[in-house]
Amino acid sequence: GLDQVTKDIIKSTVPVLREHGTDITKRFYERLFETHPELKNVFNQTNQRKGDQPKALANTVYAAALHIDQLEEILPVVKQIAEKHRSLNIKAEHYPIVGENLLLAMKEVLGDAATDEILQAWERAYGVIADVFISVEKEMYEEVENKPGGWVDFRDFEVVRKEKESDVITSFYLRPADGGEVASYQPGQYITVKAEMENEPYNQLRQYSLSWAPGNDMYRISVKREDPMGEFPAGKVSTYLHEKVEEGSILPISAPAGDFVLDQLDERPLVLISGGVGLTPMMSMLETVIDKQPEREVIYIHASRNERVHAMKARVQEITEEHANVTAYTVYDEPADPIACDKTGHLDRAWLEEVLPTNQAAFYFCGPKGFMRACYQYLKQLNVADNDIHYEVFGPSEDITAS
Ligand code: FAD
Repeated sequence: GLDQVTKDIIKSTVPVLREHGTDITKRFYERLFETHPELKNVFNQTNQRKGDQPKALANTVYAAALHIDQLEEILPVVKQIAEKHRSLNIKAEHYPIVGENLLLAMKEVLGDAATDEILQAWERAYGVIADVFISVEKEMYEEVENKPGGWVDFRDFEVVRKEKESDVITSFYLRPADGGEVASYQPGQYITVKAEMENEPYNQLRQYSLSWAPGNDMYRISVKREDPMGEFPAGKVSTYLHEKVEEGSILPISAPAGDFVLDQLDERPLVLISGGVGLTPMMSMLETVIDKQPEREVIYIHASRNERVHAMKARVQEITEEHANVTAYTVYDEPADPIACDKTGHLDRAWLEEVLPTNQAAFYFCGPKGFMRACYQYLKQLNVADNDIHYEVFGPSEDITAS
């Protein structure tokens, strides 16, 4: 544990971290990749350029400083990050490298404000925080190694089927190349794909939510092709998967991870809301609930631009026809044919109020960040408790609850 003096010093740095946190973490990642370029194989380089990753780390450091008296307060955050770390195969030996560069970045950015006393306190605090991560992750590695079909690190999977779902989304069915079993998973979890691309100096790791129910002898992911937009280039891995990966190709993937999972003990109505490719974890949950909780009331709302980019529409229709407990709604911004959907434009509170169950429900949503921010606000306005709101960000963790 940390002594009170150290804790007090850490707390005194909270305002400085609020102001300079992101400068520190930006500098930290620069240093990290200068001194350990091999880590470019692990960290998503696009998230670095966009600044999402430094922001996410700054928020975590800030939260740790704020809660240094009661680190258990941030345990849910730690667990979520640890799931991602396990999926990226981050190990205990990475922590001292991170700690050293984080302290050097603090010193560099804060200058004279970073006294020896402050740096020593942070060194100690970092050690304690790192130990929390290391022990949580160690348990996760042990669990995934020991479960049937489980594995640590990356394992080769063969693409046994590649199937177009819409103009921009394609599914990949993956089976272990070694012929062994696949580990089970919980609906909502993701895997990490290691893309080993020609012409790229480093591997690129990307997460993809599993898009159908557990219990099959294969995994399925469904990937949106990120086309170039204005000044921004095409997405590296999604384009590679769409254009270069074919049936018969091998993809190294890590075992399913993630804390965004369907609570199957909850019997209250279930509301699933997705925007665009955010439908992948929702489809996994929907496929699971019709099988495992056939009596549970389900409302599935999916928003997308139009019919052409709406994936898995036929499957959802089939589900609603076969299961009276499931109701699905479609929302299109720009439908070619307005009667092809239940609502035109964006989701809004009044419409949600009409279609949502009147009794208490559990809510799960996923989609672009703006979409999720709006969902969160509408649900709060409808007095949904935070405990009943679950969401997944398709990127470094971000607080979408601020309006
Ligand atoms: P990248 O090369 O990473 O680029 C991403 C975007 O950033 C592109 O649009 C690019 O134009 C833009 N960009 C590039 N440089 C800059 C810059 N300097 N500034 C601003 N923008 C820039 N995706 C799915 O399709 N399906 C899923 O089921 C899915 N599940 C996910 C689950 C989780 C838990 C997470 C974290 C992510 C998930 N994702 C999913 C997203 C996925 O991991 C990738 O981020 C996505 O495929 C884009 O990767 P990419 O390599 O193609 O694009």
